[in-house]
Amino acid sequence: MDAENLVVIGSGPAGVSAVRAYREAGGAGEVRLLSADADPPYERPPLSKEFLRGEAGLSPIDEDFAKIHDVTVTLDDPVTELGEDRVRTASGAVHGFTTCLLATGAEPVRPGIPGADHRDVRTLRSAADSRALRAAASGVRSAIVVGAGFIGCEAAVSLSRLGLQVTVVCPDDVPQEKRLGRDAGRFLLRWLKAEGVSVLRGTKLLAVEGGHRIRTDLVPVLDAGVVVLATGVRPRTELAEAAGIALEQGRIRTDEHLRTSRPGVLAAGDVALAYNPAAGRALAVEHWGEGLAMGEVAGRTAAGQDAAWAEVPGFWSVIGDRVLKYAAWGDGFDRAHPRPRDDGGFTVWYERDGRTVGVLTHEADEDYERGQDLVRRGAPVPAS
Ligand SMILES: Cc1cc2nc3c(=O)[nH]c(=O)nc-3n(C[C@H](O)[C@H](O)[C@H](O)COP(=O)(O)OP(=O)(O)OC[C@H]3O[C@@H](n4cnc5c(N)ncnc54)[C@H](O)[C@@H]3O)c2cc1C
Repeated sequence: MDAENLVVIGSGPAGVSAVRAYREAGGAGEVRLLSADADPPYERPPLSKEFLRGEAGLSPIDEDFAKIHDVTVTLDDPVTELGEDRVRTASGAVHGFTTCLLATGAEPVRPGIPGADHRDVRTLRSAADSRALRAAASGVRSAIVVGAGFIGCEAAVSLSRLGLQVTVVCPDDVPQEKRLGRDAGRFLLRWLKAEGVSVLRGTKLLAVEGGHRIRTDLVPVLDAGVVVLATGVRPRTELAEAAGIALEQGRIRTDEHLRTSRPGVLAAGDVALAYNPAAGRALAVEHWGEGLAMGEVAGRTAAGQDAAWAEVPGFWSVIGDRVLKYAAWGDGFDRAHPRPRDDGGFTVWYERDGRTVGVLTHEADEDYERGQDLVRRGAPVPAS
């Protein structure tokens, strides 16, 4: 194929933002976006929040996306093979490319225990998953959410607000203890309880029976109308792996321009382990904003610009009405410094080797904003 053209695999924020940036940077080749998802590109964060509660419909990432950016979008047809200069989809279509972007995101992991793969056991990634969970929740009185990460906490509160009696199975003593530390976990625990959610702390799931009953190491048997697994995700690297593209830590390794080990193939978003020059190392990030940011860099790279991903990753989570903002390199800390405020807000500063590596805030936007700068500069944790 002689003429420049771009094939983007995946219709999440990384794929959509790459197309937009490619055009904005003057990319004039034919653009094709191929997705396994049946719904046109939509915002994923509401799927555990207002969309799950039935308070809002699907929000498109970009209205009139295909028309504005002159892109051919094919939905519901996963790419099954990545060749040297062409891709093949499940329906048998073959598309040549001069540049290809892998923006395939991640998929929920079901723990390797008996019964976790039962068809009534729900996971939450796509709009279809969220619709199915809402439908399952509409006819029952109780739910079990396994996992207390952001998606588990958000979904638990949404289900509770739908009128279900919700129990969260939390593997740590408090939610997200390993990722955010004990103090942040206590805030999350308080919020879940305030929303009427019960939390089984330090509890390990052993089995799911018949899709609606769980066994744990602490509570022998617990029944519920619906069981949701919010037990983490696995990056969708299978196309890259089969094509011999370099992986690291289970993700596609890229440089700061989002280029993989294969010339002409880029990767962005949850599936990538991208080098971040501001951090001085490669980072694995699973945030909406980073999908957009990395996609933008990939799109500009595809258009021939010299763009680099050098942002401090940031994440917002909305648990009921409470907003948490987190900016961090996200790959560990030695000490957490909690700073509760009299007005109910709080900040937790994260430190490693004497440098600020992250900040978590609730109703403390000024700390979130200065935190991003302190993390970028590797400055010490502020005294107040
Ligand atoms: C319920 C939920 C709530 C969330 N809430 C927040 C939040 O509040 N804040 C936040 O920062 N982040 C949130 N996230 C995380 C955020 O949505 C992800 O980090 C982000 O979507 C990653 O973007 P991505 O483009 O890399 O991948 P994705 O958004 O996962 O998109 C991947 C795309 O690739 C497609 N695909 C996969 N394999 C193939 C294939 N072989 N062929 C063709 N297409 C393929 C998929 O169908 C999908 O369209 C949430 C995630 C979920 C699931």
